[in-house]
Amino acid sequence: MSTSPSQPSFLATALLAWYPRHRRDLPWRHTHDPYAIWLSEVILQQTRVAQGLPYYNTFLNAYPTVADLAAAPEAEVLRYWQGLGYYSRARNMHHTAQQVVQEHAGKFPTSYAELIKLKGIGPYTAAAIASFAFNEAVTVLDGNVYRVLARIFGLHSDIAAPASRKEFQALADQHIPAAAPADFNQAIMEFGAIQCTPVKPDCLFCPLQQSCWAFQHGQVALLPVKSKAKAARTRYFHYFVLRHGEQLYLKERREKDIWQGLYDFALAETVQAELPPSEIMRHLEAFGAEIDISQAAESSATMRHVLSHQKLEVKFHEVPLRQPLPDSTLRDLGLRAYSSEEIEVLPKPVLIVNYLNTH
Ligand code: SF4
Repeated sequence: MSTSPSQPSFLATALLAWYPRHRRDLPWRHTHDPYAIWLSEVILQQTRVAQGLPYYNTFLNAYPTVADLAAAPEAEVLRYWQGLGYYSRARNMHHTAQQVVQEHAGKFPTSYAELIKLKGIGPYTAAAIASFAFNEAVTVLDGNVYRVLARIFGLHSDIAAPASRKEFQALADQHIPAAAPADFNQAIMEFGAIQCTPVKPDCLFCPLQQSCWAFQHGQVALLPVKSKAKAARTRYFHYFVLRHGEQLYLKERREKDIWQGLYDFALAETVQAELPPSEIMRHLEAFGAEIDISQAAESSATMRHVLSHQKLEVKFHEVPLRQPLPDSTLRDLGLRAYSSEEIEVLPKPVLIVNYLNTH
């Protein structure tokens, strides 16, 4: 919470002067609707503005109110989200919308203290909604804010360590002006996004150059300090694209893993990149499938797909069938035959979309 003094600090003064002249004109900056602000914040987490903007417009068109979003089928929400990644964000967003409808009669709580109680809303998002929609003097801390504060004040604490949060929060709280909390938050985030950028910040034309510790000490490139994330692990996926006539067999991913709630093909995950022919045959036998060998295509080349903490090496094996798969296989593997029109509206990982577009 803010302990801001009555006179704006040097930081607030500089940022509030800089912001109106440099800010980008973005649709969520023209609204005080907490639902629209929340949507923009969820979409923009770990997503660039240019990529997130069309998703924001799509969601607001499809679901103009939080009640519309809450009432939508999860598969439809995931389909609109398709291509943004981090699908748990979409599922959490859907759950939060339902909670707002069920427990708050479709109205977002109006204070940080109440917003943070909603499942799926963390400190950053609660602060963003409270500040932008309700002008509450709570500071937001995102990657941009950490970077700006670390450089200007010469903070060397590891921003990836949860313990550092308090230190940065306390500092931000000292500077947020009671008279303009929303503008201060927008300004410091925007300043980090377009002036004090991670690489090649525009120090030469920076209004804070004289008071910036990192600039004065030649340490701009060294701040903020951020410990490296764990190396991404590699996983090997072999997809069996089972096709009968015009239909393909897909399944919903139900397990707690990447892409939960999305649809993909029958999958064998292996510990090594290659799946020997004998193993491929073993899987095909397990499907109980009558295979049309004359139509069988070569397995695809390995495709690489990078997620935030995982690298996937993926091969697709086309399996034309003479007969539909037996019911027991459908039951055991959760597969179902879909026409191409049905597949179009299913939520799918981009990897699967790309495969379908090229085959
Ligand atoms: S002088 Fe450079 S490092 Fe310091 S606040 Fe300005 S842009 Fe950021």
